[in-house]
Amino acid sequence: MAVVKESLMDALREHFGFDSFKGNQEVIIKSILAGKDTFVIMPTGGGKSLCYQLPALMSPGCALIVSPLIALMKNQVDLVRGYSSKDNVAHFLNSTLSKAQIKKVRTDLLSGKTKLLYVAPETLTKQENLDFFKELNISFIAVDEAHCISEWGHDFRPEYRRLKEMIDQINGNLPIIALTATATPKVQSDIVKNLALNNANIFISSFNRSNLYYEIRPKRKKDQTIRDIVKFIHQHKGKSGIIYTLNRKTTEELADMLVANNIKAVAYHAGLDPTTRAQRQDMFLHEDTEVIVATIAFGMGIDKPDVRFVIHYNIPKSLENYYQETGRAGRDGLEGHCVCYYSHKDVQKLEHLMRDKSLSEREMGAQLINETVAYAESAVCRRKVILHYFGEQFDLENCGQCDNCRNPKEKIEVKNRVVIMLKA
Ligand code: ADP
Ligand code: MG
Ligand code: ZN
Repeated sequence: MAVVKESLMDALREHFGFDSFKGNQEVIIKSILAGKDTFVIMPTGGGKSLCYQLPALMSPGCALIVSPLIALMKNQVDLVRGYSSKDNVAHFLNSTLSKAQIKKVRTDLLSGKTKLLYVAPETLTKQENLDFFKELNISFIAVDEAHCISEWGHDFRPEYRRLKEMIDQINGNLPIIALTATATPKVQSDIVKNLALNNANIFISSFNRSNLYYEIRPKRKKDQTIRDIVKFIHQHKGKSGIIYTLNRKTTEELADMLVANNIKAVAYHAGLDPTTRAQRQDMFLHEDTEVIVATIAFGMGIDKPDVRFVIHYNIPKSLENYYQETGRAGRDGLEGHCVCYYSHKDVQKLEHLMRDKSLSEREMGAQLINETVAYAESAVCRRKVILHYFGEQFDLENCGQCDNCRNPKEKIEVKNRVVIMLKA
């Protein structure tokens, strides 16, 4: 890669208008600009995108960014364009584009004006695209949401497994930067193996989100819980929040109830047609709705910095999920209130959802659920438990930002804990 003369700080100001780097951003960017393979493990909201966006804008040629979701790509491209004021600086190439649109993207790429091209893994499975990319000056490849490579991640995508092979077809010497918010060792080693990142610079950030407040509330009768949620939202009037539920029907029901209580709310789930989904996602991003009531189909990579609360109407299926889903709150570093409603009945519902899976899948699932249950029933600092899950030690005696630290309670007797036992 050609030598970059501009100072990194100047480039940061010029391209993004920010005055300082967050966390490890600067060293990561230096690693990429030096042409090294780079592996970035940074929690949600940590600022991973900038780690490849800035070097892409500073380097000759165009960077290819592999991104798993089409909705996510449009959002990202819009953001980059917003910073730069030149529309052709960033493009995406995926199955949603018309022939004319594809032609325009290709023209911009050939002219050298485009610095970032977002692609779906499927885009790279098409030989004509690979042949086209071979002719371009590609600066580096960024693999965003790299945990999609691993079955141990929370969002496995088989096409991600073939990425390395396809990248090698373009050019085996291209630097690769992989980014993920998943810190579990199994996922990390899958990523290193699959993308052959054996000599990469690896940057692991702390997973502590000190601005998030974690709280568990007992879930009682339905109307009582809904009253509690309505009260909570009224206390956060005018703020944006996400409510996660286990199934599609509940998203609709709950959204209706909230609307009946003078709260602007919409439902979001994978059963809606793509147009409605895109519409509702935009409503949330542009603050035409306060609350989005969603299944976990909503949220990956959504860049809304000022989500002020995330409520789990049902207990999540793993602590990893809980961390990712609550991670969408307070991405701007300001307040983020995370409430999870917990009942034994919901634990059984989760177990029931696994009924058709194989024994080994159910065992894996049960282990994850039991860890979540232990978290919910624990009297220990929530933050300590979550960070411990990611292999990180949290030393503060009192974090001041969770229910257990603010209102210490007596240790719950372990014999009361529900533990899922599987029948073979
Ligand atoms: P991630 O992909 O790690 O979840 P994002 O890249 O979406 O996080 O960034 C999260 C938020 O942080 C965004 O709103 C982004 O604009 C902001 N951000 C990133 N880097 C900086 C910085 N150096 N200064 C201020 N804000 C930043
Ligand atoms: Mg991201
Ligand atoms: Zn605490």
